[in-house]
Amino acid sequence: MGPLEQRESILKSIVQEDWDVIIIGGGITGAGIFREAARRNLKVLLVEQKDFAWGTSSRSSKMVHGGLRYLKEGNIGLTFESVRERKKLIEEVPFLIEEKSYLLPSYRGHFMQRMLIGIGLFIYDSMAVQWKSHRLSSQAVLRKIPFLRKKDLVGAFCFHDAVTDDARLVLKVIDEGRLDGGSALNYCKVQDLIFEKDQVRGVHLKDEETGNSFKAKAKVVINATGIWVNGLRKQVVDQVRKIRPLRGSHLLFPKACFPLQENISLIHPQDNRPLLVMNWEGCVLVGTTDLDHSDHPDQEARISPQEVDYLMEALIHFFPQLQLTEDHIQSSIAGVRPVLDSGKANPSQESRDHVIWQDKGLITVTGGKLTTFRVLALETLKKTQKQLGSLPDLDEALPVFSPYEQTPLTNALGPKAEMQRLWARYGVKAEQMLADTPDFTNIEGTNTLWLELEWAAAHEQVVHLDDLLLRRTRLGLLVPRGAEELLSEIQNRCFALLDWDEKRWEREKQDYLNLWKKYYSVPF
Ligand code: FAD
Repeated sequence: MGPLEQRESILKSIVQEDWDVIIIGGGITGAGIFREAARRNLKVLLVEQKDFAWGTSSRSSKMVHGGLRYLKEGNIGLTFESVRERKKLIEEVPFLIEEKSYLLPSYRGHFMQRMLIGIGLFIYDSMAVQWKSHRLSSQAVLRKIPFLRKKDLVGAFCFHDAVTDDARLVLKVIDEGRLDGGSALNYCKVQDLIFEKDQVRGVHLKDEETGNSFKAKAKVVINATGIWVNGLRKQVVDQVRKIRPLRGSHLLFPKACFPLQENISLIHPQDNRPLLVMNWEGCVLVGTTDLDHSDHPDQEARISPQEVDYLMEALIHFFPQLQLTEDHIQSSIAGVRPVLDSGKANPSQESRDHVIWQDKGLITVTGGKLTTFRVLALETLKKTQKQLGSLPDLDEALPVFSPYEQTPLTNALGPKAEMQRLWARYGVKAEQMLADTPDFTNIEGTNTLWLELEWAAAHEQVVHLDDLLLRRTRLGLLVPRGAEELLSEIQNRCFALLDWDEKRWEREKQDYLNLWKKYYSVPF
């Protein structure tokens, strides 16, 4: 079945079925709930107005972290939960959620800060029951990062966290829900809620591709729409709690101009905010900022010239030898955090905790993190018990991802690193992928394999070219100029798989390049 037929078949089933649960929003929060509901044999549908992970969940700092920041805020519970979830996820998919070390350099004159970090890391390690954090001398730090600012360097703390590909994580979690019988559709927007006896009992949907509208009924409707939650919640309550959209932006640099070997956490010299400079998918990712975002949420977020200056200021301060300029920046990415507004003057002081509200049968959940998506999914599902009658009492410690069996035979299918990448991202489907395209050639300058791109085009509900280049793969961020030079090769390999003709390809290409230029390049 080609992508168009796949879509048609899901669309047909949406109106025919009587759903137990409809989840609105295809970010990590919706995906997690979808996965946990499907494995409990519930008839569950997830709908996303744009592409899966199009919202905040493909624009994060890509860390599955224990929450050092929450510890600083005194939120011990959230740190403990994050540390536990991080451990579980690393154990399950170590090559999608990869444990990495970070260096946090310290400079003369910041004694109190050093002492507090030392205490913080001790608590962090105690919670994880691991003793990995340690101190390094300035000489040892400079051996690892020879181009780091030397003046007043007194050493560094080394600690551990984990890195992921956030969009692929969302897609993998959704895939698990599908394997358990759930249905998920992108480019399908909920316009309104349907009420029966003053209780929410379904949704009015619009297929964003054809403009067709239709209805779907469910016992429970869950609003997991991140920064958009109030749009739907306003239909069930008079007074909504205000969401404060906070933008965080990142820059990506090619390794050729930024030969970083060790991930670094830095304290910005201007305002003492922590920044990350880390290796990600063969590039160097630098971020993040934290400021009020006033653009319309349906418009893609983009980095501002002031944010570029702010991030460049830190890089020039800490890595003077590299002589980095804006010309070295390869791409940018901006995301918006859904944070509850408590009116704090400094956005960075707003709490990052999640909330769940239940009004007239609508469950609204927002503020979830990538790291703790499973905990939030279970907490949300428990709220559905009354409306559903009963909920199978499954062991909450079950693995999130179906285990795949790696045998000497399957491991011998290809080179070790590539097989690890495929197992981690595609699980049991890796074997089928290799049967379709037994080719391990990677896309030049990236870790991405051509076969991943082709698989995504044929099997992963790609509707537009930016789905393929910004979320199924991250080529638009990882290859110079949004991978423009690869487009004719991508066309050769993928456009038949996508059911597109020449005219459609040309339109998609132009739309993608315009989008990339406007939202993912660097504003001057
Ligand atoms: P989203 O991902 O925004 O998903 C909501 C979805 O709902 C959207 O895709 C939207 O299109 C859809 N939608 C909206 N309205 C409708 C409708 N009417 N019908 C259908 N669909 C609709 N967390 C971590 O754990 N680690 C990190 O390193 C980290 N770094 C971050 C860095 C930044 C800069 C930011 C902004 C956040 C970061 N976070 C991190 C937090 C984390 O990324 C977010 O909290 C999380 O992704 C939110 O997921 P979500 O599913 O709730 O929202």
